[in-house]
Amino acid sequence: MLNTVHADALVVGGGIAGLQATVDLADQGYQVALLERQASIGGKMIMLSKVFPTLDCCSCITTPRMAAAAHHENVQMFTYCDIQSIDRKGDGFVAHVLKKPRYVNESACTGCRECEYACPVHLPDLFDYGLGAHSAVYVPFSTAMPQKALIDIDHCIFCGKCEKACVADAIDFTQTAEEFDIEVGTIILATGFETTPRDAKKEYGNGRLLNVVDGMMVERYLAPTGPYGHVLRPSDGMQPDSIAYVQCAGSRDETLGVPYCSRVCCMYAIKQAMLLSGALPMADITIYYMDMRTFGKGYEQFYQNARAMGVEFVKGKVARLSEDENQNPIVRVELVEEGRVIERQHDMVVLSVGMVAGDNPRPVFGVPVSDDGFIALPDPLISPTRTNVVGIYAVGTATGPMDIVDSIVTSGAAAAEAAAYLEATHRHVPVETAVTEPAVAERSVSYA
Ligand SMILES: Cc1cc2nc3c(=O)[nH]c(=O)nc-3n(C[C@H](O)[C@H](O)[C@H](O)COP(=O)(O)OP(=O)(O)OC[C@H]3O[C@@H](n4cnc5c(N)ncnc54)[C@H](O)[C@@H]3O)c2cc1C
Repeated sequence: MLNTVHADALVVGGGIAGLQATVDLADQGYQVALLERQASIGGKMIMLSKVFPTLDCCSCITTPRMAAAAHHENVQMFTYCDIQSIDRKGDGFVAHVLKKPRYVNESACTGCRECEYACPVHLPDLFDYGLGAHSAVYVPFSTAMPQKALIDIDHCIFCGKCEKACVADAIDFTQTAEEFDIEVGTIILATGFETTPRDAKKEYGNGRLLNVVDGMMVERYLAPTGPYGHVLRPSDGMQPDSIAYVQCAGSRDETLGVPYCSRVCCMYAIKQAMLLSGALPMADITIYYMDMRTFGKGYEQFYQNARAMGVEFVKGKVARLSEDENQNPIVRVELVEEGRVIERQHDMVVLSVGMVAGDNPRPVFGVPVSDDGFIALPDPLISPTRTNVVGIYAVGTATGPMDIVDSIVTSGAAAAEAAAYLEATHRHVPVETAVTEPAVAERSVSYA
C-alpha cells in the first residue's frame, strides 16, 4: 500500500512562479504540496545575477521566497521527486510520485558539506552551467533549500571517504526510490522553461567555439555566488576586453523550430551589458540585434540608459560565427540598414539564447500543449492560467516565454482561480486532517 499525502493543492515546479503560487495559496489557509524534481527549489531565478529592470540582486529576492514556501506551516515540500502520472479522482486529482534516492538520509544531514570536502571526485557543476565543479557528493548550491547533500551515484567511486567524514552518519548507499501518492483538489503546473541549446545552430559553431558562451553562463559569471568571482573567457582564463552579444540566437528562427520571440532576451542582454560594463570598465560591449523589444514598464528607459553608458548597438543579422588561430570569435554580420556585410573580431561572444518548453512529457501530465510545446491556454484573454483540464492551472514560463514580473502575476491569478475552484468543489482539507506520512515528508521544520 502506497503512502498518501493529502493536501488542498499540488504545485508542480519550485521556480519563482511555483513558489509564488504556493505562498499565495498557503497564506489563504490552504494546505499546499510543493513538488520539485531537482534537489532544491529555486528554478532558474536563483541562478541569475541581477534582475532587469531594477538591477536588484536576484539571490536576495529569490532566497526569501524559497524560505517563505519551504518554512510555511501550510506547505509540505517534496524535492527530488518525479511525477509519474496524474489521475482524476472526483473533482480532484491523485498524482503518483517517485522520490529519487539521494543516498543521504535527509533527516540526519545537517548540510555541513564535510562529505563534499572529503570527496575526491570532481564533476562539472550544472548549477554553474559547467563553468565550475562540484564533488560526487554535494549540496546543490550555497542557498539550496533544503540544505541537504546528495550523491551522484553514476560518478561515485565508493571510496567511503564521505561516510568517514560525515559526523551525522547520514550517508546511506542502500537508499532506494520511494513511491507515494499526493491527493489534492486542484493542481498548479509551474514547470518552467529551458533555454535553446548553445550548440543548436551550425552557423554559430554548434557549441564547438570555446569563447562563444550563452546568456545563462554570463548570469553565473556575474552572480555573487558565481564560480570565479570574475568574468573569464573559457579558452585561456583571460579577462575579455571586447564582448559581443548575438540577439535572437535561439528565437525567431524557423530552422530551430522556435519561430516566436522569447521576450526576455533583449532585456537580459541589455542588463548583462550594463553589469559587464561595471565588472570590466575597459571592455567594449556590442549588441548585434534585429529589433530591440523592450516591452515592459521602464524597459525602454533601461535600454536608453545602456546606450548612454556606451554599450554599442548594431542593427544587423549575425550570419556566422567562426574563430581565429587564438580562438577569438569572429562575427560575420549583415548590416541591415547599410546593406553590407562586415566581419568583426571579439574576445568573447554571448548567444542570447531563447526560451523553449521544459523537458516534460507531452501533453504535460494529461494537459494539452500548443504547437510551440508550452502548456495550452484555451482562453488566455479571459483566464490566462486555466488549462483544458478543469481544476488544473498553469503559470509562469510553463505557458510561454515571460519575465519574472509576468510569471509572478500569473501565479497570483492561478492561486485565486484554484482557491475559487476548491471552494466551489468543497475540497478544502481542514488543517487537522491533512496527513503527512513521515517516510516521505520533508516538512520545513527540519531545516529551521
Ligand atoms: C539568461 C536569462 C536571464 C534572465 N534574466 C531575467 C531578468 O533579469 N529579469 C526577469 O524578469 N526575467 C529574466 N529572465 C527570465 C526568468 O528567468 C523567468 O521569467 C523565470 O525564471 C521563470 O520562472 P518559472 O518559475 O516560470 O520557471 P523556472 O525557473 O524554469 O522554474 C521551473 C521549475 O519547475 C521544475 N520542474 C520542471 N518540470 C518539473 C516536473 N515535471 N516536476 C517537478 N518539477 C518540475 C524545474 O526544475 C524548475 O525548478 C531571464 C532568463 C534567462 C534565460
